[in-house]
Amino acid sequence: MTPDPQPSQTHLPVLPETQLAVSCEGCGICCTEVPVPPYLDEIDFIPEELQRQVYEARLIEEQLIADKRPCIWWDPATKKCSHYEDRPNICREYETGGELCLETRTKYRIV
Ligand code: SF4
Ligand code: SF4
Repeated sequence: MTPDPQPSQTHLPVLPETQLAVSCEGCGICCTEVPVPPYLDEIDFIPEELQRQVYEARLIEEQLIADKRPCIWWDPATKKCSHYEDRPNICREYETGGELCLETRTKYRIV
């Protein structure tokens, strides 16, 4: 039998990509990207006082954007949402450590 001209290779197990250890603690930077809580139809299910705050902010949204204001509900002291239980669905779906999260953290040099 002809010997195999190629040396036998040892295949090391492929390791999963290293995941950045990401935590929202002390971050909150994605909440500075929008000035008004981004509700769609689900706004009908939050308390009326919070709905009023959102509708009022929408009236001046262009100015808030021009002034680069964070979300009206973002608390800069805690860097957290002050109405977390009533936050919009899109905020609930924003994945910590996901592509958008990492892009945003990179943009603001939060590593
Ligand atoms: S989802 Fe990402 S960008 Fe947003 S607060 Fe958490 S770690 Fe920061
Ligand atoms: S999580 Fe709260 S503070 Fe952050 S964008 Fe959503 S509504 Fe605003």
